[in-house]
Amino acid sequence: MSVRVRFAPSPTGYLHIGGLRTALFCYLFARSQGGTFLLRLEDTDRSRFVADAEEDITTCLEWAGLVIDEGPHLGADYRQSARTALYRQYAKQLLDVGRAYYAFDTPEALREMRGKGRTYDRETRHKMRNAFTLPEHAVQAWIVAGRPHVVRMRIPERNTVRFTDAVKGPVAFPVHGLDDQVIIKSDGQPTYHLANVVDDHLMGITHVIRGEEWLSSTPKHILLYNALGWEPPVMAHLPLILSPHGGKLSKRSAARLGIPVNVRDYRQQGYEPEALVNFLALLGWHPDTAQEVFSREALEQAFTLDRVAPSPARFDLDKLRWFNQQHLRLLGPDEVSRRIRAQVQASFGAVDPAYLLRVLAVVGARMVLRKEIITTYAYFFRDPEEYEPRGVKKRWKADSAGLVRAYADTLEQVEAFDAGVLETALRDLAAARNVGAGRVIHPVRLAASGTTAGPSLFEMLEVLGRECCAQRLRRAAQVLGT
Ligand code: GLU
Repeated sequence: MSVRVRFAPSPTGYLHIGGLRTALFCYLFARSQGGTFLLRLEDTDRSRFVADAEEDITTCLEWAGLVIDEGPHLGADYRQSARTALYRQYAKQLLDVGRAYYAFDTPEALREMRGKGRTYDRETRHKMRNAFTLPEHAVQAWIVAGRPHVVRMRIPERNTVRFTDAVKGPVAFPVHGLDDQVIIKSDGQPTYHLANVVDDHLMGITHVIRGEEWLSSTPKHILLYNALGWEPPVMAHLPLILSPHGGKLSKRSAARLGIPVNVRDYRQQGYEPEALVNFLALLGWHPDTAQEVFSREALEQAFTLDRVAPSPARFDLDKLRWFNQQHLRLLGPDEVSRRIRAQVQASFGAVDPAYLLRVLAVVGARMVLRKEIITTYAYFFRDPEEYEPRGVKKRWKADSAGLVRAYADTLEQVEAFDAGVLETALRDLAAARNVGAGRVIHPVRLAASGTTAGPSLFEMLEVLGRECCAQRLRRAAQVLGT
């Protein structure tokens, strides 16, 4: 039997980071098994429908490299709003065999019932307005007359629903206290429970992989599978994602901590999809080695459900930044330059691709986010606009202008303009002037880049080139003076 896994978001907003983690685990499991990854849109709740959510979901999945094999945008009829007739057909089947019934309770009656602390269970159902308490002809007449009604599933008189979750292990839920679930709402739309079960069955889903918040729905689903005479798929509930300080990572707590909520925000902030995928994979899954950095392909090979931890995973933005740095290194200068070229050109005008590659060779391994190329490392593309005041205060001494001018003279004369030669020349100059090398290095760096931190000074100077360096050094000596 070939593995089929679905990601089943509700298009009620943009894809959030927890949603992408779920999609990723579905995808990785499908790929690890040579199976199929489906996208299904659970859009029956029209009151919460967001028109551009579907497009955002597919765009984000594509950006993350999660290739969808079957989905509504690929021609499959996987939008629940277009499948209402199917759900009604199965509700009818349940009605026919007595596993579901019509109920006509008004909102007030339901409120009153809840007010008394009751659930709509096998005792209460005999006190409410439904097919248990009304004669058959009245039920039919009321339906024909269009009286508002729902269809409820009859929770059987069994005590406990048991299943083995592929992540959580054996789970037992007491049926006691469970409402007779509404499966068709008064507007004729199915509820999540019915549509979800019918679709998972009809779409041949073998493994339901979803967030832990759905665990409490699973017994209802198992009862529906039983009532419909179907074999339930394997269930796997992924651990909660916690905020860095503990507690569930909610939209609000994320916003407070400056953690982007939507996947599109990570994309806009310039995270590499490979890094986000790697980071998210380790929010709940762990390999059997100490390896942390994985390409998507490696994850597809290594992933197994039995290495998904049942305990919650903590979201750590610094860790994501670390992964981003690792992946920028893995991607290498050619790929990174391909990804940043447009941004660089938009900021600085036409840039020689070979020059961009040389810059990346020097700073690539230091970059955490690729956009640093146009912020932190802008000095490779234009003269520094100012000299970092704190750096000047600390590093620019009375003799700095003289030393920097002298080094500019040297730069103009050295035969080969390469890092090794430049370093020797600087050390020779320092020795001749009887000062420590740092006395020259720091002001030169400030003069050439405007800042005190950065990559190897001599590699940086080599990339900037002879004329640029000489001109920047002389200008700084003049501007900063003594
Ligand atoms: N539509 C549900 C969601 O928004 C799907 C839950 C499930 O995977 O069953 O997450």
